[in-house]
Amino acid sequence: MALLVQKYGGTSVGSIECIEKVAEKIKATRDAGNDVIIVVSAMSGETNRLIELSRQVCENPDPRELDVLLSTGEQVATALLSMALEKLGCPAISYTGSQARILTDSAHNKARIKDIDGARLRKDINAGRVVVVAGFQGVDEHGNITTLGRGGSDTTAVALAAALHAEECQIYTDVDGVYTTDPRVVPEARRLDRITFDEMLEMASLGSRVLQIRSVEFAGKYNIPLRVLSSFEEGEGTLITLEDDGMEQAIISGIAFNRDEAKLTILGVPDQPGVASKILGPIADGNVEVDMIVQNIAEDSSTDFTFTVHRNDYDRALIILRKVADELGAREVAGDNKIIKISLVGVGMRSHAGIASTMFRTLADEGINIRMISTSEIKISVVVDEKYLELGVRALHEAFELERPLDS
Ligand code: ADP
Ligand code: ASP
Ligand code: MG
Repeated sequence: MALLVQKYGGTSVGSIECIEKVAEKIKATRDAGNDVIIVVSAMSGETNRLIELSRQVCENPDPRELDVLLSTGEQVATALLSMALEKLGCPAISYTGSQARILTDSAHNKARIKDIDGARLRKDINAGRVVVVAGFQGVDEHGNITTLGRGGSDTTAVALAAALHAEECQIYTDVDGVYTTDPRVVPEARRLDRITFDEMLEMASLGSRVLQIRSVEFAGKYNIPLRVLSSFEEGEGTLITLEDDGMEQAIISGIAFNRDEAKLTILGVPDQPGVASKILGPIADGNVEVDMIVQNIAEDSSTDFTFTVHRNDYDRALIILRKVADELGAREVAGDNKIIKISLVGVGMRSHAGIASTMFRTLADEGINIRMISTSEIKISVVVDEKYLELGVRALHEAFELERPLDS
């Protein structure tokens, strides 16, 4: 019998009706002769609701207590789904992350899975039960409940698939696969039959929230076949795999964007060794992660230095940077938290010239000013004003003809 791990996201278990539909789907998979481990997210909106509740108590809740609170969302969904399965005559048992012995480090709110002891789950499977595990959570070595960061149920699913040597890890969601870009922004976006781990990793890191970054990293590392499918429609979905020769070769596989960006500039800093570290050191010490960095070539003895951070960290970064500016004798600090990042992703970029110039010309033709640029082997990212997100993504999607199937 094949062992499958299936993960159902928040909208897929968003109401009792949805949970009952999911239960029927799971029963059908089992009746077809498969063993299944199910991972569920909290019902849609629940994690946000819990975060909001905590904010009503205090602005910065204790991370340990926040994890105790947030993990309840997934726990509710596991119990309801198990009940729905039992009602259909399908034996099922629910587990929290801790009960399923998903051991993580102690980094509350962004913990990493270190180990999974699959023995308990294996026993249930052998006894003919469907195992329903709460996603997004685990337990550290001291017995504290931890959570894995937003979207973390994807990672729970992949980690369980690796630990129990599942045949495939299937991520069921509210879209029927991975598209050339978010189909909610570009209705013409095309579903991809396959995408490589490398490309999916770039897409996820650059803002496509369809899969959590860690889940893709994990699946790539252990070579777990990972598939994104719809909870509501039949179909093959998108398979995420290693690159192979028979794979459709697109130059650009997709466009990702990130709305959570903000940029800060420190103007007129001395052009001397050690300045970058004097600026970014305090930012890192303040627990602010920096994404893009641009330093201008000095015209005289001073230069400007710009970097981007998560929008949630903008205010904190600005305070730190003003202090740094005083210490360095910089001229001014400027910032903008109404910017976004659009990125083109594709392994074919390695061997094709002219992608960047087409990208820049397309944006220019739409009157979109590019504020920052960064490139790597398989991606080009630009920072532009927030108001240009939809226009920019749609124009690029059209310019690179991403809506066209590859073989036509
Ligand atoms: P779930 O609750 O099932 O985990 P998410 O909201 O986390 O679902 O992820 C699914 C969403 O990801 C889709 O509804 C879609 O809007 C968005 N998305 C962003 N980029 C893409 C893409 N390239 N392909 C498919 N979906 C995408
Ligand atoms: N419920 C968590 C979130 O909303 C985890 C997940 O859905 O994967 O981020
Ligand atoms: Mg998700």
